[in-house]
Amino acid sequence: MNLLVPTERGLYCPVGDFHIDPSRAVPRAIVTHAHADHAVKGCGKYLAAPDCLPLLRHRLGRGIEAEGLEYGRSRRVRGVRISLHPAGHVLGSIQVRLECRGEVWVATGDYKRQPDPTCRPFEPVPCHVLLTETTFGLPIYVWPEADEELQRIESWRRRNRERGVSSLLLVYSLGKAQRLLASLAPDLGPIHVHDAIAGVNAAYREAGIELPTTAIDPPSAGSTVLTVPQAVGTRWLAAAAPYETAYVSGWMRTRRRRQQRGTGRGFVMSDHVDWPALMRTIRESGAERVGAMHGSTAEVVRFLREQGTEAFEVRTGRPQLDPATIDRAESFDESPASSNAPAHPSLGEADDAADDADDGDDRPEGV
Ligand SMILES: [Zn+2]
Repeated sequence: MNLLVPTERGLYCPVGDFHIDPSRAVPRAIVTHAHADHAVKGCGKYLAAPDCLPLLRHRLGRGIEAEGLEYGRSRRVRGVRISLHPAGHVLGSIQVRLECRGEVWVATGDYKRQPDPTCRPFEPVPCHVLLTETTFGLPIYVWPEADEELQRIESWRRRNRERGVSSLLLVYSLGKAQRLLASLAPDLGPIHVHDAIAGVNAAYREAGIELPTTAIDPPSAGSTVLTVPQAVGTRWLAAAAPYETAYVSGWMRTRRRRQQRGTGRGFVMSDHVDWPALMRTIRESGAERVGAMHGSTAEVVRFLREQGTEAFEVRTGRPQLDPATIDRAESFDESPASSNAPAHPSLGEADDAADDADDGDDRPEGV
């Protein structure tokens, strides 16, 4: 039985009649997190983790019909029981667990295993079938310890500040910016953030995440600035000159990518799993079958098959966006969604009202 099938509009659950992270508007969508390539405008109903809702509304508009389902609580949607589990990717990121007639599937969404002070840590969920993201699914992608890379960033900031040079950290506006803001040492002066990041910060605070206060005056020489890459060259950043720039991304693991970005410096900090964490996650899931989504799907499938694991590629209509492109969409595509979306049955309210009594009792089971 296929609990999830890839379609032009993204992953679809035929039994429950809903999509996960659809790439186009659908009647009912479970959204694993608020990044632009996972949360699209125009869906009838959205279901997400409660702490994802402020981010969804920030990105898609206050008028969306969005409902939160507590982590670990389960609900029946037609013939399938669903629950949401932390993915550790960004605030409000989830894995979706589906159970039907004793078979358990998990779709991971984007996830990481490194610590992040701004979101819940990834939680392994046993399953029969695991659909995992493979954005960095090559053995060359091995992340340094997050603390070590943070110390490199701090040393760079400190050196720059002593020379009167500003440090421009080029980051995604949702996730990486807040993770860094919560992690950087406060003794090197206030941190300036681009407007696109400030807007996301407000949504994080609304969701209950404490973030340090950021500077409100324009940056000047010796400042630390968190900014989206598209702002480099703007007048706002001209005031920070002289400055050095550095990308903070998993893509910085390869020299070629650093050169493509036009900066010799990059810090390797990702909100996705690296190769060892990907393999560990697959092992811990106990899955009999593994589907690879996004990025290096063919390479991961080939490797798993060589190891004797049944594996397959999952191709959906979701665009494969470069992170810089994703960030552009997040930063500059902020027009609110239409507030008069058509009414659709809720995810999980259409039937099986009696099952509501079970909510919260279902925990992931060993398989
Ligand atoms: Zn993401």
